[in-house]
Amino acid sequence: MPEWSNWSGLVRSTPERLVRPSSEEEVVAAVRDAATGGLTVRIAGSGHSFTRLVATDDAIVALDGLTGVVDVDPEAGESGEAELWAGTPIHAVGPLLHPHGVALRNQGDIDRQALAGACGTGTHGTGPSLTSFSGAVVGATLVLASGDVVSCDADHEPDLFRASRLSLGASGVVTRLRLAVRPSYRLHEREWAEPVDDALARLDDLIAATRHFEFFWFPGGDQAWCKALDETDAEPDELPDVDGERIDDSWAIYPSDRDDRFNEMEYAVPAEKGPACFQALRELYRTRHPDTRWPIEYRTQAADDVWMSPAHGRPTVTLSIHEPVDRDHEPLFRDAEEIFRAFDGRPHWGKLSYLDPSELPALVPGWDEWWAARDAADPDGVFLNDHLRRLAGR
Ligand SMILES: Cc1cc2nc3c(=O)[nH]c(=O)nc-3n(C[C@H](O)[C@H](O)[C@H](O)COP(=O)(O)OP(=O)(O)OC[C@H]3O[C@@H](n4cnc5c(N)ncnc54)[C@H](O)[C@@H]3O)c2cc1C
Repeated sequence: MPEWSNWSGLVRSTPERLVRPSSEEEVVAAVRDAATGGLTVRIAGSGHSFTRLVATDDAIVALDGLTGVVDVDPEAGESGEAELWAGTPIHAVGPLLHPHGVALRNQGDIDRQALAGACGTGTHGTGPSLTSFSGAVVGATLVLASGDVVSCDADHEPDLFRASRLSLGASGVVTRLRLAVRPSYRLHEREWAEPVDDALARLDDLIAATRHFEFFWFPGGDQAWCKALDETDAEPDELPDVDGERIDDSWAIYPSDRDDRFNEMEYAVPAEKGPACFQALRELYRTRHPDTRWPIEYRTQAADDVWMSPAHGRPTVTLSIHEPVDRDHEPLFRDAEEIFRAFDGRPHWGKLSYLDPSELPALVPGWDEWWAARDAADPDGVFLNDHLRRLAGR
């Protein structure tokens, strides 16, 4: 039996089939073969989700053979659109788009995820004017359970489109994504440490003054490790040799290395509640988890209109907490989740949570509409696994 594991090793599967199509036709064949054989199908990006989204005993379709640019139109939409094959890893996107004069509007902490995987859970970076990857999706092409290939956008198959921006891999195999992009740009990165109480006191200014601001706080310490990114026209070699600063193309600045493996929980809270939620977490670490050493990450996100998005309809602060893979993450995460809930938090779909699924319809905007559109596209539940059925209370 083939084996599949997520990045942190927490989720493992031995599916009956693990298929790696390298064309849309092969995706169609893989879905038809699985359905004919009575198998359900899950789709894998690069396995960087911590939740059991991909886990199955049946068939996994991995899209890492379906990569590259389909089409770029720098004049389309607000500031350009690019269509890419869904398995393209984010780290390949910048170099692929640069010759066309466009770039992704924002990126997250790392660039190892597949494009459709990142969109599949609402993966985001930081910046109060910037949405998640899902918010940038303006069109998608899917292979449905029937084997039909369907393209959708706001005007064509609009419900399928809205369910496919943040899809959880539940409506079909996304083979192509059309993203809103923008003209290529360079970023100036500044990193520094300052007392966390000082950073909190001027947090609104720090966030407003930069395109992207975030900070990490390590329990047991009193420093905020801050990072600010701003657009610049300067060339990389124009920067004097200053510690903690660099200039480069946007895609070269965004990603960090994450060499040590960990598990993670993240909640999105209304932006105005971010500082108080952070302080409550800090107190939790001090009083109940004094030996935890892995950081809290504090980021911002613009409101969006994406069904199932944690940032739907409200300017957002995301707070991520981590535990290394060799420690039991559950005690901290369960305690922290109570705090997140008290601050109107919504969970990140790719990161751990213990919510009772009966809470989700009230908590998650677009829940009913998303499930109705998904069910219409896949009435027999070919793309559902235990995790998704549990979320839906089925
Ligand atoms: C080290 C690390 C850093 C991270 N940093 C961030 C961050 O900065 N910001 C953030 O928001 N998250 C972050 N995450 C979480 C991660 O970005 C998400 O979980 C993301 O969904 C993972 O992408 P993936 O390609 O690995 O997809 P997977 O985890 O493999 O899949 C995610 C979902 O997408 C679906 N999917 C994948 N491909 C397709 C397809 N072609 N068609 C249909 N559905 C598909 C899957 O079925 C699944 O439901 C991080 C995770 C790790 C491990």
